[in-house]
Amino acid sequence: AKHLGGNTLQFFTERAQRATIDYLQMENQLRKALVEGQLEVFYQPRLTLLDDRLEAAEALVRWRHPQQGLVAPAQFIPLAEETGLIIPLGEFVLREACRQAREWQRSGLADIRISVNLSVKQLRQGNFVSLVRQVLEETGLPASMLELELTESQLLDDIDNAINISRQLRALGIKLAIDDFGTGYSSLSYLKRFPVDYVKIDRTFICELEHSAEDAAIVRAIIAMAHNLELQVVAEGVETQAQMDFLKDQRCDEIQGYLVSRPVPAVQLAELLG
Ligand code: C2E
Ligand code: CA
Ligand code: CA
Ligand code: CA
Repeated sequence: AKHLGGNTLQFFTERAQRATIDYLQMENQLRKALVEGQLEVFYQPRLTLLDDRLEAAEALVRWRHPQQGLVAPAQFIPLAEETGLIIPLGEFVLREACRQAREWQRSGLADIRISVNLSVKQLRQGNFVSLVRQVLEETGLPASMLELELTESQLLDDIDNAINISRQLRALGIKLAIDDFGTGYSSLSYLKRFPVDYVKIDRTFICELEHSAEDAAIVRAIIAMAHNLELQVVAEGVETQAQMDFLKDQRCDEIQGYLVSRPVPAVQLAELLG
């Protein structure tokens, strides 16, 4: 048994070492990707249920890896968060999304607000609000056409700082959304403390909507509560007509999901808009 234990330990050590090397290698590759322009922003539209308009689109980063092809954010955002690379990465996505939205606006396509995901690390930078102001100025995008998404857990991580920055951003005219709503550990009551405009119901409550009475009840409750607080509601991950019909019945404001469109490159979104 002792012998086996030794082998097991050695096995784990080797594995851990290999994982560390892969991680380091990936960090260097990601650093290079930022400099060499391998990161790309895809866009997924949001549809209003009341009048059938594409009124916003979420910016979702992709990595066009020279060997591995298109890499999804789940594969590299956690690493970026851990290494601090999320700061330049987030700045790239913000600037690129604002530039793109302004270009669509200039070329006469329907005005579409652009929604950008934030990491709590970006909020903790002392100068985040001035960075946003600078990017809007540089690109010429009106503040009302920018929306920023934060998850519940990120907001709760440093509640006073988050409230303070949220106030400043909204004073500029920027819209704010709470992302992945319902997945955090918080009670619903804290919502009224946050100056936000949108609540995005997490996909996990939407995917079983037709078969789960519990999920249906939760979604109904979130919509009712958000509306009572004068917030608008977006349902994420809507894939079926039945889900859409349910959400329409419940007066959900907007849907986002494969039923409307997958996240697509900028040129393809322009075709959807045009
Ligand atoms: P998220 O912010 O919750 O984004 C929604 C995710 O759900 C996207 O995955 C989208 O492709 C996926 N999705 C949309 N509709 C459907 C649907 O109908 N069915 C299913 N199964 N999935 C759907 P994606 O693009 O892989 O992004 C994953 C996560 O990575 C995002 O989740 C967000 O947390 C993070 N992320 C993406 N881009 C950025 C970024 O620029 N900055 C930061 N900080 N995080 C980002
Ligand atoms: Ca999001
Ligand atoms: Ca989400
Ligand atoms: Ca998510």
